Amino acid sequence: MAVNFRVTAEELIRTTGARVTNARIEILATLLKADGALTHGDIENRLSEASGIDRVTVYRVLDWLTQQALAHRISGDDRVWRFNAVTSTQSHHHAHFKCNACSRVICLDDLGTGLAPKLPLGFTPVEVDLTIKGLCADCSTSGKAPATAKAKSGRRAASARR
Ligand SMILES: [Zn+2]
Ligand SMILES: [Zn+2]
Repeated sequence: MAVNFRVTAEELIRTTGARVTNARIEILATLLKADGALTHGDIENRLSEASGIDRVTVYRVLDWLTQQALAHRISGDDRVWRFNAVTSTQSHHHAHFKCNACSRVICLDDLGTGLAPKLPLGFTPVEVDLTIKGLCADCSTSGKAPATAKAKSGRRAASARR
Protein backbone atom coordinates (compact mmCIF):
# COMPACT_ATOMS: atom_id res chain seq x y z
CA MET A 1 0.00 0.00 0.00
CA ALA A 2 2.56 2.52 1.14
CA VAL A 3 4.76 1.41 -1.73
CA ASN A 4 2.08 2.37 -4.25
CA PHE A 5 1.84 5.90 -2.90
CA ARG A 6 5.60 6.18 -3.21
CA VAL A 7 5.45 4.96 -6.81
CA THR A 8 2.70 7.46 -7.66
CA ALA A 9 4.59 10.25 -5.91
CA GLU A 10 7.77 9.43 -7.79
CA GLU A 11 5.96 9.42 -11.14
CA LEU A 12 4.31 12.78 -10.40
CA ILE A 13 7.63 14.34 -9.40
CA ARG A 14 9.27 12.93 -12.51
CA THR A 15 6.72 14.75 -14.70
CA THR A 16 8.03 18.08 -13.42
CA GLY A 17 11.48 17.32 -14.87
CA ALA A 18 13.04 18.32 -11.56
CA ARG A 19 15.28 16.23 -9.39
CA VAL A 20 13.56 13.30 -7.74
CA THR A 21 14.67 13.24 -4.12
CA ASN A 22 13.67 10.93 -1.33
CA ALA A 23 12.24 13.82 0.71
CA ARG A 24 10.03 14.92 -2.20
CA ILE A 25 8.77 11.37 -2.68
CA GLU A 26 8.17 10.75 1.03
CA ILE A 27 6.29 13.99 1.59
CA LEU A 28 4.15 13.77 -1.54
CA ALA A 29 3.39 10.11 -0.72
CA THR A 30 2.32 11.20 2.76
CA LEU A 31 -0.07 13.76 1.24
CA LEU A 32 -1.43 11.23 -1.26
CA LYS A 33 -2.05 8.70 1.50
CA ALA A 34 -3.85 11.13 3.81
CA ASP A 35 -7.64 11.34 3.78
CA GLY A 36 -7.58 15.05 4.44
CA ALA A 37 -5.29 18.05 4.29
CA LEU A 38 -2.26 17.98 6.59
CA THR A 39 -0.36 20.68 8.45
CA HIS A 40 3.44 20.84 8.50
CA GLY A 41 3.30 19.22 11.93
CA ASP A 42 1.00 16.40 10.78
CA ILE A 43 3.41 15.61 7.97
CA GLU A 44 6.42 15.63 10.28
CA ASN A 45 4.60 13.25 12.61
CA ARG A 46 3.74 10.87 9.81
CA LEU A 47 7.23 10.69 8.35
CA SER A 48 9.22 7.89 9.89
CA GLU A 49 12.24 8.79 12.01
CA ALA A 50 14.26 6.65 9.64
CA SER A 51 13.47 8.92 6.68
CA GLY A 52 15.78 11.53 8.23
CA ILE A 53 13.66 14.39 6.86
CA ASP A 54 13.88 17.43 9.12
CA ARG A 55 11.42 20.25 9.69
CA VAL A 56 13.18 22.66 7.34
CA THR A 57 13.08 20.11 4.55
CA VAL A 58 9.37 19.57 5.11
CA TYR A 59 8.75 23.31 4.70
CA ARG A 60 10.96 23.53 1.64
CA VAL A 61 9.49 20.50 -0.08
CA LEU A 62 5.91 21.64 0.62
CA ASP A 63 6.70 25.01 -0.96
CA TRP A 64 8.20 23.26 -3.95
CA LEU A 65 5.26 20.87 -4.34
CA THR A 66 2.88 23.84 -4.18
CA GLN A 67 4.87 25.71 -6.85
CA GLN A 68 4.76 22.63 -9.06
CA ALA A 69 1.00 22.34 -8.51
CA LEU A 70 1.46 18.84 -7.12
CA ALA A 71 0.06 20.09 -3.84
CA HIS A 72 -2.03 23.03 -2.84
CA ARG A 73 -2.34 24.79 0.43
CA ILE A 74 -5.47 25.73 2.24
CA SER A 75 -5.61 28.54 4.76
CA GLY A 76 -7.46 27.71 7.93
CA ASP A 77 -9.11 30.21 10.21
CA ASP A 78 -6.57 29.05 12.79
CA ARG A 79 -3.91 30.58 10.51
CA VAL A 80 -2.33 27.21 9.97
CA TRP A 81 -1.65 26.14 6.40
CA ARG A 82 -2.83 22.70 5.45
CA PHE A 83 -1.59 20.84 2.41
CA ASN A 84 -3.22 18.39 0.10
CA ALA A 85 -1.90 16.50 -2.88
CA VAL A 86 -3.39 17.56 -6.20
CA THR A 87 -4.56 14.73 -8.38
CA SER A 88 -4.79 15.32 -12.11
CA THR A 89 -8.57 15.39 -12.01
CA GLN A 90 -8.64 18.38 -9.68
CA SER A 91 -8.62 21.92 -10.86
CA HIS A 92 -7.57 24.90 -8.83
CA HIS A 93 -11.21 25.78 -8.71
CA HIS A 94 -12.43 23.63 -5.95
CA ALA A 95 -13.71 24.25 -2.48
CA HIS A 96 -12.88 22.72 0.85
CA PHE A 97 -14.89 21.44 3.72
CA LYS A 98 -13.64 21.95 7.24
CA CYS A 99 -15.22 20.01 10.07
CA ASN A 100 -15.83 22.16 13.14
CA ALA A 101 -15.62 19.17 15.45
CA CYS A 102 -12.55 17.20 14.32
CA SER A 103 -10.86 19.94 12.22
CA ARG A 104 -10.52 17.62 9.25
CA VAL A 105 -10.18 19.48 5.95
CA ILE A 106 -11.06 17.73 2.72
CA CYS A 107 -11.11 18.81 -0.92
CA LEU A 108 -14.50 19.02 -2.60
CA ASP A 109 -13.74 17.98 -6.13
CA ASP A 110 -17.20 18.40 -7.49
CA LEU A 111 -18.11 22.02 -6.94
CA GLY A 112 -20.92 21.88 -9.38
CA THR A 113 -21.75 25.15 -11.01
CA GLY A 114 -22.90 28.33 -9.44
CA LEU A 115 -20.37 28.55 -6.61
CA ALA A 116 -17.92 30.66 -8.57
CA PRO A 117 -18.78 34.30 -7.92
CA LYS A 118 -19.14 36.69 -10.79
CA LEU A 119 -16.12 38.96 -10.81
CA PRO A 120 -16.01 42.64 -11.74
CA LEU A 121 -15.06 43.37 -15.34
CA GLY A 122 -11.35 42.94 -16.00
CA PHE A 123 -10.64 40.68 -13.04
CA THR A 124 -8.95 37.37 -13.75
CA PRO A 125 -9.55 34.55 -11.30
CA VAL A 126 -6.56 32.29 -10.67
CA GLU A 127 -7.71 30.23 -7.77
CA VAL A 128 -10.83 29.85 -5.70
CA ASP A 129 -10.23 29.53 -1.99
CA LEU A 130 -13.59 28.67 -0.60
CA THR A 131 -14.12 26.72 2.61
CA ILE A 132 -17.42 25.37 3.77
CA LYS A 133 -17.55 24.74 7.50
CA GLY A 134 -19.72 22.27 9.31
CA LEU A 135 -19.63 18.68 10.51
CA CYS A 136 -18.08 15.81 8.56
CA ALA A 137 -19.97 12.54 8.14
CA ASP A 138 -18.21 10.92 11.12
CA CYS A 139 -18.91 13.83 13.45
CA SER A 140 -22.49 14.31 12.23
CA THR A 141 -23.39 10.75 13.11
CA SER A 142 -21.50 10.77 16.41
CA GLY A 143 -23.86 13.54 17.53
CA LYS A 144 -21.24 16.15 18.26
CA ALA A 145 -22.79 19.57 18.57
CA PRO A 146 -21.49 22.29 16.28
CA ALA A 147 -18.59 23.42 18.41
CA THR A 148 -18.76 27.12 17.73
CA ALA A 149 -17.82 28.23 21.23
CA LYS A 150 -15.33 25.41 21.58
CA ALA A 151 -13.69 26.22 18.26
CA LYS A 152 -13.25 29.84 19.31
CA SER A 153 -11.52 29.02 22.58
CA GLY A 154 -9.50 26.38 20.77
CA ARG A 155 -8.30 28.98 18.33
CA ARG A 156 -7.21 31.24 21.16
CA ALA A 157 -5.33 28.36 22.74
CA ALA A 158 -3.70 27.58 19.41
CA SER A 159 -2.47 31.12 18.86
CA ALA A 160 -1.25 31.35 22.43
CA ARG A 161 0.84 28.28 21.84
CA ARG A 162 2.55 29.84 18.88
ZN1 LIG B 1 -15.40 15.72 11.81
ZN1 LIG C 1 -8.18 21.07 -2.09
